[in-house]
Amino acid sequence: MNIGIESVYIVSALMFGLGLKLLSSPATARRGNMLSALGMLLAVVATLFNQEIIDFRFIAGGIVLGSIIGVLAARLIAMTAMPEMVALLNGFGGIASLLVGWAEYNSTMAPTTFTAVTIFLAVMIGGVTFSGSIIAWAKLKEFWIGNFGISKAFVFKGQQVFNSLLVLAILACGALFMMNPGEGYQYFLVIIALAFLLGIMAVMPIGGADMPVVISLLNAYSGMAACAAGFVIHNNILIVAGSLVGASGIILTNIMCKAMNRSLGNVLFSGFGSVVTAAGSGSEQGEVKPVSVSDAYLLLEAASSVVFVPGYGLAVAQAQHAVHELSQLLEANGCEVRFAIHPVAGRMPGHMNVLLAEADVPYDELVEPDDVNPLIETVDVCMVVGANDVVNPSARDDETSSIYGMPIVEVDRARVCIVMKRSMAAGFAGIQNPLFFKDNTRMLFGDAKASLQGLVSEFKHD
Ligand code: NDP
Repeated sequence: MNIGIESVYIVSALMFGLGLKLLSSPATARRGNMLSALGMLLAVVATLFNQEIIDFRFIAGGIVLGSIIGVLAARLIAMTAMPEMVALLNGFGGIASLLVGWAEYNSTMAPTTFTAVTIFLAVMIGGVTFSGSIIAWAKLKEFWIGNFGISKAFVFKGQQVFNSLLVLAILACGALFMMNPGEGYQYFLVIIALAFLLGIMAVMPIGGADMPVVISLLNAYSGMAACAAGFVIHNNILIVAGSLVGASGIILTNIMCKAMNRSLGNVLFSGFGSVVTAAGSGSEQGEVKPVSVSDAYLLLEAASSVVFVPGYGLAVAQAQHAVHELSQLLEANGCEVRFAIHPVAGRMPGHMNVLLAEADVPYDELVEPDDVNPLIETVDVCMVVGANDVVNPSARDDETSSIYGMPIVEVDRARVCIVMKRSMAAGFAGIQNPLFFKDNTRMLFGDAKASLQGLVSEFKHD
């Protein structure tokens, strides 16, 4: 054991742990991110100084190429495309672990049973993570294949049986491979192919509003694959980093399950989110009541309590600064302001928190649905800023709805609800929202940022 490098790994591991702790509060999250990144840089630099690694020129080339791609991606990718990028990054983590396992197998060809087990795990979990993440990416991109929107759940008869057989086939090939790794190259290749297929088959049946669960689960898988890869090459920091990602991914999955009111068993055995929406999907449900910016202003000006409910449309419109400015003007007008953050609002876990933190919205104004729902009848105006599924009363009232059971922010029970969106289009789950037709709902059509800026000007000219 190289004491020098292991000592550096211990320092890096401590930095990861402390970084994660800081990430648990929005106030310290940036510092936590920076500290964890520094810990990783330290680990990478220490590894580079380890004599056992491959030619320095390959590593330098890899770092330069990777850095260029990373910087370009961070600069060029729009904030709205971040969720897809996160899905892709999970996939890259998976394929990297698979390749580490493959490279180790190629270099020894006759690994010990323990190493063969870890190679099998790294390759299997890495393969599932890679292909599953590519499908998740396509679903978040809302690709269409012919008439089929890929973001919808894709189910066929016997799918669960097919997936179970696939898992059994992988385990059987894995057993044959591990019993005699030196002669098992053909089984190894079949494991890779079947793992790719399993990733596709496991994510295809998941769609619509259930996607947050699959994204966080794939994140956990990428950590587990990295951990297995760490065992393959006996690299302690990879084991630690992989375990931390795997464990935090599982915790996040649990939080997302709760937010969607799904059990983890549902997630692991897949096939959820495939319920076909019955009533209410796209059918007319009465008259909507459009409202102008000036009329919305009059409602807000008279309000003594306002709750903003941001959703994916806030990210599309990049309206975080405008909504903060309006909230400050409301407060100056003597109004109590809160922001109700639904855990699955937007397209990635914590999406709304990131945007509102960027606009310096005070953390103590952010509340969870459980905190605001019991008091919502006393709220004068709920301002829905580009949210749709997370405020859809069908989740509470319509047993035939595909999102039935998902907790929502119950804006329909406020005195008045103003919904800001551009059209009557559905949200990510693809279902109509009866909220828009309620007596106490007013529709403020248009881009959310433009509408908010209009309201800000009304307040300023008052
Ligand atoms: P939704 O996707 O349900 O709705 C967003 C709404 O924003 C749309 O109805 C759209 O209507 C409106 N919108 C889009 N652009 C603008 C704009 N420029 N100005 C104003 N409005 C705009 O969002 P929610 O946040 O309510 O719900 C998130 C959904 O995404 C849930 O179903 C969730 O499960 C899913 N999901 C969440 C993930 C996560 O990790 N958080 C990951 C993957 C999926 P219009 O086009 O008419 O303007």
